Amino acid sequence: MGWVSNDHEHEGWAAAVAPDGRLSASSSGEGMLVQGITGHYQPDKMLPDYEVVPDREIIGWRGACGCGWRGELWERVTSPAAADFGRRRDFVPLDEFANPSSKVEGAIHDEWKAHLAPLEAVAGVEAAAREYNQAGRRLDKTVAAAKAAGASWADIGRAVGISRQSAHERWAEKQ
Ligand SMILES: [Zn+2]
Repeated sequence: MGWVSNDHEHEGWAAAVAPDGRLSASSSGEGMLVQGITGHYQPDKMLPDYEVVPDREIIGWRGACGCGWRGELWERVTSPAAADFGRRRDFVPLDEFANPSSKVEGAIHDEWKAHLAPLEAVAGVEAAAREYNQAGRRLDKTVAAAKAAGASWADIGRAVGISRQSAHERWAEKQ
């Protein structure tokens, strides 16, 4: 549990995957806790909406985030010979807690960070667009003030870096 983005909008974790595809966000001593009652597993004693999937039944792990993002599956294999990082196969014995190896957990963390990258880039666009629009409104106001003070369209065009004609087309209607 627990990777938080700088803006606190995203909280990610390496989720254990039950045979029916449900993801776990936490565990108890008896197994991984998954939300929902199907009757296939024992209900948890503390959380009545959760079932306990025994560690030995966990089929793998995937990245998960509070925003709804889900990473690709890392499959659990139960013999060391079947382990293959490149093919997303991680060895965790059946009699152990069903946590991924630290290498796979690190890889899942990287996948979670990668899902943030485009969102953070879009946040940059959002901030720039806000400044752009504010600057546009300030430009309109200062042009109106200049015109009211007696400046010509040629003077205003020169100040903006456009032609007299363009300045007129852009602002004459707004006067
Ligand atoms: Zn997210």
